[in-house]
Amino acid sequence: MPQKTIFKKIIDGEIPADVVFEDDHCLAFRDIDPQAPTHVLVIPKKEIASWSDIAEEDQKLIGHLALVIRQLAVDLELGAGYRVVVNNGQEGGQTVDHLHFHLLGGRGMSWPPG
Ligand code: 5GP
Repeated sequence: MPQKTIFKKIIDGEIPADVVFEDDHCLAFRDIDPQAPTHVLVIPKKEIASWSDIAEEDQKLIGHLALVIRQLAVDLELGAGYRVVVNNGQEGGQTVDHLHFHLLGGRGMSWPPG
């Protein structure tokens, strides 16, 4: 068995996280090293390593995650605007091999991103 990622350990309750939302398909929790006043990670419970590994069969799941993120932005009072980021692969800055969406808000964002 490949080693569990840190996010799989969070899903399995083996390490704690500040969870803001959970359902049968996904989990949302605050980033341990926030890059904005609000910085939440939204992950599927299914182990998908990266954006590149999304399969046809994941279409409904990814759509569900999009709707969860949209609702979380409302619940976390990010009505002034926010950013949703997926870092993909080494050059994309991905450090955890479990698909995750960063939901960032609570400050003005600059462009281009680093
Ligand atoms: P990536 O760099 O892969 O796009 O994002 C990984 C994110 O996971 C980083 O923002 C990092 O701060 C966060 N992270 C890493 N380990 C933990 C952890 O144990 N708990 C939480 N809540 N976030 C983590």
